[in-house]
Order: sequence, then C-alpha cells, then structure tokens
Amino acid sequence: MVFVNSDIIAAIATPPGQGGIGIIRISGAGSFAVGQRIFVRAGKGKNAGKIFAENYHPKARHLYYGFIIDSEGRELDEALISFMPAPYTYTCEDVVEINAHGGVVPLGNILKLITGMGVRLAEPGEFTKRAYLNGRIDLLQAESVMAVVNARSAGGLYSSIQGLKGSFSRELALLGEELLDLLAEIAADADFPLDDLQPADYCLLQERVERLRERGALLRRRGVRGRILQEGLKTVIAGRPNVGKSSLYNLLLNEDRAIVTAVPGTTRDILTDFINLKGIPLRLMDTAGLRRHGDAVEQIGMEYSRRAIDSGDLILYMVDLAAGIDREDIWIYENLPREKGQALLVIGNKIDRPRLVTKEALASFFPGDEVVEISAMTGEGMEDLEEAIVRQTFSGEAGGAEGALVLAVRQALLLDALVSCLDDGAAAMANDYPPDVVAIDLQQAYTKLQNLLGKELPGDLLDHIFRNFCIGK
Ligand code: GDP
Repeated sequence: MVFVNSDIIAAIATPPGQGGIGIIRISGAGSFAVGQRIFVRAGKGKNAGKIFAENYHPKARHLYYGFIIDSEGRELDEALISFMPAPYTYTCEDVVEINAHGGVVPLGNILKLITGMGVRLAEPGEFTKRAYLNGRIDLLQAESVMAVVNARSAGGLYSSIQGLKGSFSRELALLGEELLDLLAEIAADADFPLDDLQPADYCLLQERVERLRERGALLRRRGVRGRILQEGLKTVIAGRPNVGKSSLYNLLLNEDRAIVTAVPGTTRDILTDFINLKGIPLRLMDTAGLRRHGDAVEQIGMEYSRRAIDSGDLILYMVDLAAGIDREDIWIYENLPREKGQALLVIGNKIDRPRLVTKEALASFFPGDEVVEISAMTGEGMEDLEEAIVRQTFSGEAGGAEGALVLAVRQALLLDALVSCLDDGAAAMANDYPPDVVAIDLQQAYTKLQNLLGKELPGDLLDHIFRNFCIGK
C-alpha cells in the first residue's frame, strides 16, 4: 500500500528515549487514509480486529483504542489513535495522532511503516511552520512555541504563553497602526512647505513621535527582562581573594560545589550554575579573585573574570568587613568593567566577626551603589541580599516579571532596530527637521515592525527560523 503524497508529513512528537507514552503526529491532506490503513480496533464490538472500511469517516477528535498493524497484519504496538479534521488543528490540516508506547523500537517501527507509505519525515518545526503558513498564527506566536518548550522559569513560561496567545503581536499591531496613521497624516501634509506648518502642529506631531518612541523603548526594556527570565540573570561575584566569594556562591547554591579554602587565589575557573531566586533564574558565575598583581595562572583567571563581568547583568562586589577596606578593594571596584550598564550591589561580608568598617563608612566608599551586609558563613543577611537582587534586576519597573517579553534573538534584534528608527525620528523632530524627513525614519520603523510579525520575510529566512525548532513540533 503506497500513498504517494509528498505533502503528508509525520514525526515522533515526544522526546527520544523511554516513556509511558510516545506520540506520532501525521499532518496533511490524506493523512486520515494513512491512519485508517494501519490501525485495527480492539474490544468486543463488531469492528474489533478490523481496519476501518475505506469509505468510513472516523469520528472527529475521538480516541479509538486498538493496535497499529503492518502491511502483513502484525501488531506493532497497542495504541490510541485520533483523527482531527482541518482546519481546526495545530497545522490547520487534517491531523492524525497516534499514542503508542514511548519506546524507541515501537515508535521507530510505526514511523517506518508510515514513511514506507510515501509519507515524508517532517523537518524540525515543520508542523508549526504549516500553522504559520496556513495563517493560524503569526511568526511571533510560532516563535513563542519554542520559548514555551525552552522556558526556564515560571515567569519566562507565563510570558511565552502570552506570546503564543498573540498578546505581543496585538501590541505590535497597535503600534503599527499608529505609525501608519502618522505616516498618512505626514504624507497628506507633505504638499505644504515647512514654513506653512504651524509651530503648534509641529509640537503635536513631535509629541506623537515621542510617545511612539517611549512605547518602543518600553517594549525593549520588557524584552531585556524577558531575556533574564529565559536565559538567567548573569550574575558575577567579584572581589579580591579571600573576601568570601566562593562561600557566598555555595550558600546561594546550597551545596559545596566551588572549592572554599583559606589560601588566597585558589578559585581559578569560572563556575556557572542556575539557581532560582524568588522566581528569577540567576546564572551564577563565581570568578577567580581579582587582584592587582598575581602569578601567570592567576592573570589568566583574572582575564576570564573580567570577561565574565563584562558580559554580566549584575555584579555582586564583595568586601570583607572584618579585614577592612583597603586600596586593592577600591582599585578593583573602580576598575570593574561596567560599560554595558551592569547593575551592581556591594556586599559587605563576614558580619559575624568583629568589624573594622562601620555601615556608614562602607556606604561612603561606594557612593551611588546599594550596599548589603551579610555573613556567607552563617547566612545572616541573605534575605536582604535576595530582595536587593530582585530590586536591582527589575530596577523598579512596573510589571516586574509579569510584563516581561520573552523574545527570540531575531525578535530582539528587530525590536532594537525598530526602537533605534523611532529614536532617530524623535531626534529629527527635536532638531526641527521637516515632517517628510522624519517620515523616512517612521517608514523604516514600520518595515522592522512588519518583519517582526513575519511579514515580507524571504522564504530562506523562514526556513532558517524553523530549523531551530525541535522535531515533531
Ligand atoms: P574567596 O577567595 O573570595 O572565594 O573566599 P572564600 O569563600 O574561599 O573564603 C575565604 C575564607 O573566608 C574561608 O576560610 C571562608 O571560610 C571564610 N569566610 C567566608 N565568608 C565568611 C563569613 O561570612 N564569616 C567568616 N567568619 N568567615 C568567612
């Protein structure tokens, strides 16, 4: 039995390996015929042991219990099969789902049987790509599917589900409508030379461009929060040797993974681990102690530390209250790479011991940065530290994790480009450029917005996007 229809695709939708259940998905016009030919019903009814009659229409979205059989009638596995007619399916096409046992051999044999009938193996993400091409979802929603699969925290998951439901798409569509309105008005006024434009009208226009810019910038900030929820807040513990960095790392991790010793300069590798701190995934990086001088190996470790700090989101800069603040502490603090706007928290450690620095003196050494005091040995002050980390992460932005936008790299780059076009537009208005010049920036912003939604994208770019999906999705 051969169905030559290259347009039917199939894949195992569950992860490889063993599991209670494994699911095979088949999608495309003609997939019902495939499902009907490889399945016999079980039970005591008159249809038990029989395949579906050729002209039989299986009940939509009904679970049939029975066996998958090969062309010689041998049972390949016990299974549940369902038939979901187009267009109300994941792909908008006829879809058949087989729930078999989750083993490599049963699922592999069933898939082999299906592909032997002329059904093609689905490429990664091809089911979702069809949902997109058939117009059920836009590209942002399609990309959210993978964000849901890859979610690392409850906040990241919540945000991805909003993306899946189309909330971000709707926000962008509204922004797009306003951009278009503005462009239409500017175009209508273009026949009038700038001299005739009333200053009050120019001001109104400027305000509207500025509001659009602010909305874009807010979306971008929400994107940064989403990245943190998805990838983790890259947190680097820095400070001179022996202040207690490894001890804090371990305390946060709650297990002895980094070596803690009393000999300065022994943490030479950068460790990295994920912890969940009040709903924020922290990508914790312990670094080699920073110091001005040091042997060659230490120099290499320090170079790594600098790079880690440079790429970090949050620096936990630690000093030893029992040892006091010395010139090295200040030198390191002043030389921390912070060009990318990394947040910084100063941690005064070892409050369990007699202190050489008062709280006030400590704050005066690090003006402008929040200071927290802890003992990495007893755990005192950890609650304050955790709250301070949360504060620094969302730096008082309304919405916190709730308003975060989890974006794919492509989306984040396009959003950046969109916002910088709006920045350019706002700057042009601030410099009294004529509206039709500003319109060029707005037009570009609109194009980026369309690209974000997946409109006017070349086909090979689409292939590239879906290639990063998992098989069977
Ligand atoms: P690092 O070089 O900065 O990573 O420092 P370590 O975590 O290896 O700590 C250096 C020494 O200080 C070790 O002997 C730790 O046990 C000790 N230490 C770390 N934190 C504290 C603390 O809060 N109180 C006290 N009393 N000792 C600490």
